[in-house]
Amino acid sequence: MTDVEPTTDLSVPAEPVMPAWEYAPAPESTEIVRLRERYGLFIGGEFVEPATGGTFPTISPATEEVLAVVSEAGPEDVDRAVRAARSAHDQHWRDLSGAERAKYLYRIARILQERSREFAVLESMDGGKPIKESRDVDLPLAAAHFFYYAGWADKLEYAFPHVEPRPVGVAGQIIPWNFPLLMAAWKLAPALAAGNTSVLKPAETTPLTALLLAEVIQQADLPPGVVNIITGAGATGAALVEHPGADKIAFTGSTDVGKRIQRATAGTGRRLTLELGGKAANIVFDDAPIDQAVEGVINGIFFNQGHVCCAGSRLLVHEPAYDELLDKLKARLGTLRVGDPLDKNTDVGAINSRAQLEKIGELVESGVEEGAQMYQPPCELPDRGFWFVPTLFTGVSQSHRIAREEIFGPVLSIMTFRTPEEAVEKANNTPYGLSAGVWTEKGSRILWMAERLRAGVVWANTFNRFDPASPFGGYKESGFGREGGVHGLEPYLRLEGRP
Ligand code: NAP
Ligand code: MG
Repeated sequence: MTDVEPTTDLSVPAEPVMPAWEYAPAPESTEIVRLRERYGLFIGGEFVEPATGGTFPTISPATEEVLAVVSEAGPEDVDRAVRAARSAHDQHWRDLSGAERAKYLYRIARILQERSREFAVLESMDGGKPIKESRDVDLPLAAAHFFYYAGWADKLEYAFPHVEPRPVGVAGQIIPWNFPLLMAAWKLAPALAAGNTSVLKPAETTPLTALLLAEVIQQADLPPGVVNIITGAGATGAALVEHPGADKIAFTGSTDVGKRIQRATAGTGRRLTLELGGKAANIVFDDAPIDQAVEGVINGIFFNQGHVCCAGSRLLVHEPAYDELLDKLKARLGTLRVGDPLDKNTDVGAINSRAQLEKIGELVESGVEEGAQMYQPPCELPDRGFWFVPTLFTGVSQSHRIAREEIFGPVLSIMTFRTPEEAVEKANNTPYGLSAGVWTEKGSRILWMAERLRAGVVWANTFNRFDPASPFGGYKESGFGREGGVHGLEPYLRLEGRP
């Protein structure tokens, strides 16, 4: 035993200075993934050749390497997929009992859990998101969605009492590249639980986990044609939207394309839900727990490289907290590790595509030109692939493009406010209305703010939290309809005679 000197100095010792932390590479192995050289379209329960023979490559945005060649569905293929979905619906699926449909959904959920590492690695390879996010967020949530809606499949009459809920029919479902598997789960799980069949179109740059999901659907023995997965680009999506056999269109993507789809379906009597873009305000009051708020702001905008529709891309800071918050944010920005998505230590992965990288670059340039001050920490980027340094802007005014337009990248625009009223006014000064965040110690202020913020989701002292039981969706140009929760079943049901 060593003697310890008694001390009378009770002051808090100065924090030890941490040496710069070096991380050894911690790459996740890709061996678990079995890529095919070429993928067909998944129609009627099997992989088939496209009618026209068109194909396109999908690459890894981190290395620009071609991962696989994927089929491009033309109008004939879309027609074939819609017909397969129709016949599966009319001959089998709509009349199956809810409990039987639930069994299939549970099976898909369990297989996703069993094969989650394979899916997570493939998601990071094809889309560029950090493995720790695909592993800990995308995959658990995707499985949770199937589990959750499996639970509703045999309880629809309790969810919607006094009516006999009936499926709508064939759903045409179009999804973006930022959460490829998770968006597929958000679309398929409620549609199937409600007795619909589906034709799903994944995004051009991230088709591979949807095609792996097709294998899971085979493995789960789903009746052929209940789920059809057709790959392609915008033209394939447009052909699906225009097909009169798709009784309902569910679209997640940009506001521009959403508007086009709304025009195309107007007056046809076909159902439509749109989950579109956002420009969320993350609002920090001076009584907020500042260190927690810093983490929330960082997570709000740098999670998934900022490719998040509900990203907290506008930070509104209460003036008295501004200096402290900005110092801490800059320090935290410098600790983000940008690079190989498959490295378990990576915080910020690759930008999903060259086109998206160019769009981010263009908007960031406009921020500088319009007079905002840009801050980027020292950051080494890999030589190949698509990358963007985590960036923040101060001196942003509300008229700047970086305060108004969705950048969909790792770029934060910071503004200030003096009163809660001013915070609400600035937060709502946007054509979008998908999400918002409020950071304060006062519960009453959270409720006061939540009542006034025109956003589908308001997070309090947290950000980017998702749960299958909680409805998600927008106001204004962020779209209409809700996904998740009981609300998420409604767009897939006919509830005629509802009181
Ligand atoms: P996008 O260009 O609108 O594409 C979304 C999907 O629509 C893709 O599968 C795309 O195919 C397809 N598409 C393109 N043109 C089409 C057309 N004329 N008709 C039918 N389908 C068409 O959007 P993105 O750039 O992929 O995704 C980013 C956007 O999605 C952001 O604005 C983001 O905010 C939004 N988003 C919203 C939510 C939400 O829940 N509100 C969630 C995630 C993302 P290709 O990719 O093959 O071209
Ligand atoms: Mg890709």
